[in-house]
Amino acid sequence: MIRFEHVTKRYPDGTTAVSDLTFEVEEGELVTLVGPSGCGKTTTMKMVNRLIDPTGGRIYVDGQDIMATDPVELRRRIGYVIQNTGLFPHKTVLDNTATVPHLLGWSKAKRLARARELLDLVGLDPSVFGDRYPDQLSGGQRQRVGVARALAADPPVLLMDEPFGAVDPVVRERLQNEFLKLQAELGKTVLFVTHDIEEAVRLGDRIAVFGTGVIEQYAPPTEVLGAPANDYVADFVGADRGLKRLSVTRIEESDLERPPVVHLDDAATDAAARLRDENARWAVVLDPDEILHGWVARDAIAKGGSVRQYARRMEAWLPVGATLKQAFATMLQYDAGWIAVVDEATGHFRGILTPAGLHEALRRSIESDAQDVPRGDVELDSVPS
Ligand code: ADP
Ligand code: MG
Repeated sequence: MIRFEHVTKRYPDGTTAVSDLTFEVEEGELVTLVGPSGCGKTTTMKMVNRLIDPTGGRIYVDGQDIMATDPVELRRRIGYVIQNTGLFPHKTVLDNTATVPHLLGWSKAKRLARARELLDLVGLDPSVFGDRYPDQLSGGQRQRVGVARALAADPPVLLMDEPFGAVDPVVRERLQNEFLKLQAELGKTVLFVTHDIEEAVRLGDRIAVFGTGVIEQYAPPTEVLGAPANDYVADFVGADRGLKRLSVTRIEESDLERPPVVHLDDAATDAAARLRDENARWAVVLDPDEILHGWVARDAIAKGGSVRQYARRMEAWLPVGATLKQAFATMLQYDAGWIAVVDEATGHFRGILTPAGLHEALRRSIESDAQDVPRGDVELDSVPS
């Protein structure tokens, strides 16, 4: 969707901001450009909508050479969000949001309807915020308006230059999450500039790590963190890159163990006999709908009745697709030796994640390292307290 071919930008004063850049952003992909200040991120981004013209090479948007495209027509297809949003201070939130539809000559009714729809989409009630002015909003709210405005004409491409850089870390994380949700729905092609590696790995499908005017590595977050291309990248992502990988690697079904399973209404003595047969000390307990109820220890089954009488509730669980960081945090929170993993949509029990499974998932996230790594024998002894 966006393709750079040997792109160079030399400013008139002789500064080479970027040099021989070649990379491609697929349709619907969110790519983060990350690197220290002055490495050429903004220059790279501004060349896409022709705010800056390259001095060498070619850039294609949707197959079209942008130098052969009228800049105004080009910018209609490209939403642009910058830090501090560049909102017009003398215009209301609604009018700010409707800026591009206004330029495109939409009727007043149509553009205001679109602006209301978009404010809703970014979590701002238009009946509350629509008539306010930018200085009557918090920083986070202003950023949301900036995103709404960029989306107003429904452009397929979004350029975002440190859009959440000016807000505090708590609000920033909230904006990141909201934006990820929005992107999951909209599937825009996004080029997102940041100097913050945490933000880059959280948001990016792929990350371009910039050195001075060049891309040092272009890969998914797990790979950049798990297998940095060189010392520069390793240094930039930080010595705690192993920990950072926890937050970008998700639990998959293949990471899970399948412990014995019993149901709430099973006869307790039958369940105990089965666990003895299987040489298991405990089992996961499901309700009749296969929804996780908890667990039961073999030794706890003293008399007859049903499993229900002996089962204990299980608090430590997560859906498939949760991050390893969430898994680890949940284990620690409940002091659990393992956590249950369920299907997000149905709530059905899928298996359990043990520390060994977590370790294997981390290895899986860098395929090159993950090959031929035998999985250690897992002791399913530890029961949650
Ligand atoms: P980043 O966004 O990564 O901080 P920039 O793309 O803004 O980096 O800048 C890259 C380099 O180009 C820097 O050395 C910067 O000083 C230089 N630069 C940026 N804009 C201009 C300009 N208009 N004239 C001369 N040099 C510039
Ligand atoms: Mg910049």
